[in-house]
Amino acid sequence: MKPLDEARAEVLASLPSLSTETVPAVQSLGRVTAEPAVTLESIPPFDNSAMDGYAVISLDTTDAPVELTVIEDVAAGSVPTKRVEHGAATRIMTGAPMPEGADAVVKVEDTESPDRDRVTVRCSVDAGRNVRPAGGDMSPGDVIVESGTRLTARHVASLASAGVNPMVSILPTVAIMSTGDEIVDPATERLEPGAIRDSNRALLRAMLAELDVPVLDLGIIGDDPVQLRAAYEKAAAEADLIISTGGVSMGDYDYVKQILGELGSVEFWRVAMQPAKPFAFGTVNGVPLFGLPGNPVSTFVSFEQFVRPALLHMMGATRILRTRLIGIMGEDVDTSEAKTVFLRVLLAQDANGPFVAVRSGGQGSNVLSGLANAEAFAVVPVGVGSLSAGDDVTLEMFNWPEGRRIDE
Ligand code: AMP
Ligand code: MG
Repeated sequence: MKPLDEARAEVLASLPSLSTETVPAVQSLGRVTAEPAVTLESIPPFDNSAMDGYAVISLDTTDAPVELTVIEDVAAGSVPTKRVEHGAATRIMTGAPMPEGADAVVKVEDTESPDRDRVTVRCSVDAGRNVRPAGGDMSPGDVIVESGTRLTARHVASLASAGVNPMVSILPTVAIMSTGDEIVDPATERLEPGAIRDSNRALLRAMLAELDVPVLDLGIIGDDPVQLRAAYEKAAAEADLIISTGGVSMGDYDYVKQILGELGSVEFWRVAMQPAKPFAFGTVNGVPLFGLPGNPVSTFVSFEQFVRPALLHMMGATRILRTRLIGIMGEDVDTSEAKTVFLRVLLAQDANGPFVAVRSGGQGSNVLSGLANAEAFAVVPVGVGSLSAGDDVTLEMFNWPEGRRIDE
């Protein structure tokens, strides 16, 4: 059996990289930067007021209270026309450009204005008070986002403010198919004897939707060499990555193995992990292929451990593995010492304490009910085997984005 880390490193090293494109900042959510995104401008572009109030010469306020003459009003979006001289002030709104001459803003709460032309400043202000200088956020040449970053809403906002359209990886098209004569459409109301509904494609589509990649759904392919061959050929012609499920274990009708053997260079691996030990990886007409085990929980685990990191890696992301943290096991568990075991767990947390993990249900690789509500993997490494209630345990959080590099 191959150790998981070794298998994953081998997979990543063999993947092609994708081409790049420039996209508008507002359409860049979830995309991975292919180069550092750099601002060419100062942000903010001009000195402006941080408060609604009065732009003044700070020295004029030293002996506050002091009365000043209001020479004009400047709202955000308009431009001051008059220079502030000693004894004068400009009524100014948050975000409006500072008038020449003024070096501070007195906030409106610290003033009284008997009429439009006069203001009494009650407190003194220092130079620079309540003024946001040009370039205070970013200056020309500043890197907004490093290369290899999967863009979040927060990055998008920063790019938008600088008017920068980032260079990003294209989104890979992913072909998916379920294989097996027993598999039927999930919309099937009454199951024939021996039939089961296709949960794997539902799972894959949903997991891929989270990565925003286009999906080529080739549907359910029976255990039939002609159909399988046609499906893999179409997938290789139209997609950047292929995922099929089923047919990679030891069964008699596993034509998947035969066809993959004929069409491409595919290896059948036994990875030291549970669930999801059997697993095929290679290329079909040069396009990377993952042949995932048919059991739905195995499909989930191998997607999380191999396919998702592979897609993020192809897109050039530096962080491709989900965030891990240390929690506490809430019950005794006995697992296989020879494999990395991914228990599906529920988490509880008292106040600000560590997460406490208990199994979320049945741990069989066919048991979806235990997976549905799970919040994390409790990862039991090779050589550990059993854990007792109260032991530290590594948690890999399902709903947290990838926070780890491959070597972390
Ligand atoms: P296989 O790897 O084809 O031998 O399938 C292993 C197990 O997973 C069998 O019990 C299959 O019925 C089940 N299975 C295979 N494909 C799917 C699917 N798309 N949805 C749900 N279960 C499946
Ligand atoms: Mg099968």
